[in-house]
Amino acid sequence: MVFEITDICHVRNDATDTYVVIQGGKLLCLSPADWEPFAYRDVADLAELKDDYFQHLGQLGEVHCYSLSLPAELEVKLPEGGVWLGLRDLLGCVSEVCFQLLGRALQVDNWWRTHQFCGTCGAKTEALKEERARYCNACDLFYYPRISPCVIGLIRRGSQCLLARGSSLPEGMFSTLAGFVEAGEMLEQALCREVKEEVSIEITNLRYVGSQPWPFPGQLMLGFIADYAGGEICVDGEEIIEAAWFDVDNLPNIPPASTIAGRLIQRHIDDIAAELET
Ligand SMILES: [Zn+2]
Repeated sequence: MVFEITDICHVRNDATDTYVVIQGGKLLCLSPADWEPFAYRDVADLAELKDDYFQHLGQLGEVHCYSLSLPAELEVKLPEGGVWLGLRDLLGCVSEVCFQLLGRALQVDNWWRTHQFCGTCGAKTEALKEERARYCNACDLFYYPRISPCVIGLIRRGSQCLLARGSSLPEGMFSTLAGFVEAGEMLEQALCREVKEEVSIEITNLRYVGSQPWPFPGQLMLGFIADYAGGEICVDGEEIIEAAWFDVDNLPNIPPASTIAGRLIQRHIDDIAAELET
């Protein structure tokens, strides 16, 4: 089963559609370690629902999915066993497809909550039917969900790779280097700059590997493998606590394969295995 973004003009059908219920950036779940889509009969009694709360997200197979964004001030009658969870609480508990759907739901919800009023004149914005945008008539301005591109890269030196422990990672856990793309910057420049800033290493020969939406709150991770070109590892001790070259048969704790960082490391392991065979 895949999740795909489809026709935004789909007319809601409460008999067959499913819903992701969100309030204050949290997801309504019926269990502390899992998420299941809600049918309309399950959400109808939560509160007095307005059409404006529903946003079409796409389809899981044949089934259309909507986010149901409940305003923070709305009093909600929780179903039995109902709990509000953040998406991070569900990392590793739900499938990759489910993670993508929930991530999209939260990003759309975030946009819906934060663009009710025009950032220029303060007037109420209106939702557009034909595209995922809110519009200020007075300013002729469109507001779209904000997506922030980030580069993430695994650096190779021979058969070794460079992994680092950022300040948010627990001791013993290492990952690839990452950072936000600046306005006016190419992806390749952004990765070279981030690596230089974080570990003082020069890189070359960047190869694009893949991407992953990372909805905390709106990053799009763009993953590369690159080759070492020069320099000695030197970390700033604040953003990056430690960094080192690792052999593939002696890796530290690394992020799970469901993350782009985990995928980059796995790609490197596969590349080394393939090179040893030839
Ligand atoms: Zn305006």
